[in-house]
Amino acid sequence: MATAPTNNHRRVALVTGSTSGIGKAIAERLAADGFTIAFHSKSSAKTGQSLAASYPGSTYTQADLSDQNQAKQLITDVLTHHGRLDVLANNAGINATIPHRSLKEASAQIWRDLYEVNVIAPWTLISEAENALRDSSSPEQPSCIINISSHAGVRPKGASIPYAASKAALNHVTKLLAISLSPDIRVNAIAPGLVETPMTEQWEEARKLWSERSPMGRGAQPADIAQLASMIISNNYLTGEIIIADGGLNLT
Ligand code: NAD
Repeated sequence: MATAPTNNHRRVALVTGSTSGIGKAIAERLAADGFTIAFHSKSSAKTGQSLAASYPGSTYTQADLSDQNQAKQLITDVLTHHGRLDVLANNAGINATIPHRSLKEASAQIWRDLYEVNVIAPWTLISEAENALRDSSSPEQPSCIINISSHAGVRPKGASIPYAASKAALNHVTKLLAISLSPDIRVNAIAPGLVETPMTEQWEEARKLWSERSPMGRGAQPADIAQLASMIISNNYLTGEIIIADGGLNLT
């Protein structure tokens, strides 16, 4: 574990979906930056507990964010235990792979499920955490929300239209809240392209696309996205930005 920079000493970061993939990498990176981490996942409680145990002061909470009561309870539990919140990283998300031309396959239920987890849950967590984030904010070091959206929410791409639309909604919410919550809370989004995680294990076509067409010649590792999250958090001025992290694929 890296030594904690003093300015993050005792600051608390909640990272949703932090037992695997991008969320785990963000949580571990922020722990190395000196944050106390509130780990969370929908399942994988054992992994979450053992992650929390390896970072002194950290906690793990299990919550299904498609359930509003559990989403609200997550914030209550984090505040009860830690007494403060400085960073909220809304990383938990779900995907659905549906060919864009197969309109009927993208049922109303799939739209609702994706919106519930990818848009409404982050909204609820932010609403519930707003007061605590304001309380821990100072003019020198505003609190910070990072939403993990997707390049598919910026360009007409992605595993399915409902997924892309849910991430586009999250991007727009990011910009609107950057205004509404300013100057106490900065709100930014990271819009990754392909990242090597459990979600994309089977995405051979995307892997080929990134290796052949993207200027960086590869998809991202979770650590690449985690480092960007750390950069956004360490800057005290940036707000309302949707940072595309796709290795430059959008340029080609
Ligand atoms: P992942 O499957 O490893 O992680 C997803 C996390 O979300 C898991 O920890 C899971 O517990 C959590 N989650 C899912 N449904 C939930 C629910 N109902 N309640 C609570 N938690 C729930 O995948 P990942 O690739 O690390 O994805 C993390 C985020 O990054 C997602 O929002 C995803 O849309 C986004 N993203 C991923 C990629 C990629 O290529 N991997 C690209 C762009 C955006």
